[in-house]
Amino acid sequence: MDNNTIKGQGKGLKVLTLDDKFQFDCHEGLNCFTQCCRNVNIFLTPYDVLRMKNALGIPSELFLQEYTHTFIGKNGLPAVSLKMGDDKDRSCPFVSSSGCGIYQDRPWSCRIYPLQPESTKLTEKSGKQYYSIMNIPFCLGFQESKISSVQQWLAEQGVPVYMEMEQYFKKITMNPFLRDKVIENKKIQQMYYMACYDLDRFRRFVFESSFLNQFETDPEEIEKIKDDDVALYKFAMKWLEYGLIGQKGFKVKPEVMAAKKQALGIK
Ligand code: SF4
Ligand code: SF4
Repeated sequence: MDNNTIKGQGKGLKVLTLDDKFQFDCHEGLNCFTQCCRNVNIFLTPYDVLRMKNALGIPSELFLQEYTHTFIGKNGLPAVSLKMGDDKDRSCPFVSSSGCGIYQDRPWSCRIYPLQPESTKLTEKSGKQYYSIMNIPFCLGFQESKISSVQQWLAEQGVPVYMEMEQYFKKITMNPFLRDKVIENKKIQQMYYMACYDLDRFRRFVFESSFLNQFETDPEEIEKIKDDDVALYKFAMKWLEYGLIGQKGFKVKPEVMAAKKQALGIK
């Protein structure tokens, strides 16, 4: 271990860059194996929900109903967390003695451990990534000899695609227009929940409501979102940017606009 390697536990908060190294490993042979999958609060991102419901082969409505709690955040917008079991350990519904039952599609926060992104207005402006190391007392992974750079660990755990997808979501949640607002309108809250988390219902909204008659859309994109969840997720985020923040991702069809103006007596 060189002087730039952080052992993690007991070292206090030290901010790591992508090139910094830390000492940690996690595997089935450790006595703490799967302990971290119990009695824990796991917030789910929209992309987490997409991956998990597809891993289970169930529609988003059912996934949300069976496996999540919904709560309203400080900004008034709904968010979801993983529903732990009602056994005495509050076990994750996907954990077994052999590990995570949805390992390839486990949520972002399960993947990234023991790293934790550190972000401030300054770091965001710099465009660089910084991380600290979480300190869970029972975790024996810090006693293992494996040394990785932050970048290597993130790549091994399949984090980059989650970060890429999170950028679409952050365009909404981190938008200065919404940052200091509290959304209280129930219809907006419901639309946000559907577009973020309930993608299968959002797909029905696009194809079964008057949506496609109202807005100008790209036929290729519309064809794609019929069965591509990632494309649908990006479309949903664009829709929220338009509806919540007033970005120009969508345009009302001229004939619809003309009819609306006529109905309102506007020339
Ligand atoms: S090493 Fe840490 S992350 Fe891995 S199973 Fe043990 S407690 Fe969980
Ligand atoms: S989703 Fe998998 S890794 Fe995450 S807490 Fe549950 S069992 Fe553990």
